[in-house]
Amino acid sequence: MIRYFKDIITGAWSLIKGLFVTFKNLFSKAVTIQYPTQKLQMTERYRGLADLRVEKCIKCYMCVKICPTGCLSLAHKENAEKKKEFEHFKYNMELCCFCGMCEQVCPTQAIYMNKIYEIAVYDRDKITHIDLLNAGKYDEWAHPTVK
Ligand code: SF4
Ligand code: SF4
Repeated sequence: MIRYFKDIITGAWSLIKGLFVTFKNLFSKAVTIQYPTQKLQMTERYRGLADLRVEKCIKCYMCVKICPTGCLSLAHKENAEKKKEFEHFKYNMELCCFCGMCEQVCPTQAIYMNKIYEIAVYDRDKITHIDLLNAGKYDEWAHPTVK
């Protein structure tokens, strides 16, 4: 009999405690966001995908040489005025370990890690042959801007 009443009191007390927590948080600011409508802005040091400011690149190959996974492929030729011109600059994101060493070694800050984090694709070729010279290469992936 004593145990019966003890269970009722314990149950009622835990219910009150639970309701107290609920009401305490009911009007406080939410810590979550309405994903995917809202997207978090990544921190300054976040490393997303390798990206390129094409006009800044001097084709020194430092990024290609330091990349530990060999996921950058660059080629150039000299034009009639002896100026370097791109042949291609490709990025295999599937191999990238997001170490950021390419960004650190680049003498002109041409290559950098952007803030994109939604990188799921149906077509594997889309991530293995990314053309860094194409300005719209990452357009189909959402760029986090909200909050
Ligand atoms: S982040 Fe690292 S692995 Fe990825 S491209 Fe740059 S150097 Fe290579
Ligand atoms: S290190 Fe920078 S400047 Fe040199 S090839 Fe790579 S992106 Fe271009």
